[in-house]
Amino acid sequence: MRVSQLLKSKESNTVESIRPHATLRQAATALMSLKLGALVVTDETNTMVGIVSERDLLPVVASCDPNAAEALVSEVMTRVVISCGPEDEVAYLLHLMNEHAIRHMPVIENEKLVGILSIRELTKAYELLQIEANTDPLTQVSNRRPFLKTLETEFDKARQHGLPMSVAMLDVDHFKRINDTYGHDAGDKTLQQLSRMLIREFRTIDLVGRLGGEEFALVFPDTNLIGAYAACERLRSTIQASEIIADANKIRLTVSIGLTEMCAQTDPATTLLKRADELLYVAKNSGRNQVMVEGSVRITPNAKTTISTTT
Ligand code: GH3
Ligand code: MG
Ligand code: MG
Repeated sequence: MRVSQLLKSKESNTVESIRPHATLRQAATALMSLKLGALVVTDETNTMVGIVSERDLLPVVASCDPNAAEALVSEVMTRVVISCGPEDEVAYLLHLMNEHAIRHMPVIENEKLVGILSIRELTKAYELLQIEANTDPLTQVSNRRPFLKTLETEFDKARQHGLPMSVAMLDVDHFKRINDTYGHDAGDKTLQQLSRMLIREFRTIDLVGRLGGEEFALVFPDTNLIGAYAACERLRSTIQASEIIADANKIRLTVSIGLTEMCAQTDPATTLLKRADELLYVAKNSGRNQVMVEGSVRITPNAKTTISTTT
């Protein structure tokens, strides 16, 4: 994101100036009445010689000296002013400001002051940018790159603390038919509602990522295969029983899931995804609409799930 985009998104880019020999009382009055965070200090030739911000006035406000407010702007202003241009990158500026403890950055375009950005504004914009970059725009779940990064982190954590962890790959059955029957838009809405179901059905510590198309990956930290199987099977049957309303259509769908658990030999973390993907392939080839794990899974009469790993 560039500075120009950030300036456009700001409600106001008013830049007000004050002379160095103005008093701090005058500066504080101007900041309050104009609802600004900083003023540019300019000399008689309108050249910028510094910046005075709310923060510079704080010691005055806190002071017991009744004459403190009569001190001059030139005594508290920041003199060394680093400025930026509209084409500068927000991420780079943020780095620069943090490194040099700069709180306000004037934006100069064609030798004219067009705005002042505070570190708070830049940080907020940068955080939003990060969220956007890491989120799949259609479904609002993690996209591939951040998902894989979190998988690595969870994998290392599980290893370090000797905790179990399970990973699943989920793919919509015959999704092409849904697109062909109801149209691509309805297909998109189906994916959006499916993602909401994934988030609703699982715990907040579980991770959901869209790896591409109609394929999602799931990470279940601190969960062994039996626990993860129960969660996936519950999800599978909820999806099967649900009706997705997209435009005027009532769409029914099923999903296939490949599920695996981390074991002593698992290394690296991506092996887990690969194994889950292979099991997904088996689920597809054995009739779809099912959760496939290594070995066979049975629900025993006393409702306890058991998994026998006989392969
Ligand atoms: P299978 O049960 O074997 O998974 O069959 P399928 O039809 O789901 O699988 P296939 O991989 O043949 O088709 C996936 C379809 O998903 C094809 C593609 O056009 C569609 N698709 C991928 N991404 C999107 C998307 O973002 N929106 C919509 N509407 N469709 C998508
Ligand atoms: Mg599919
Ligand atoms: Mg697919």
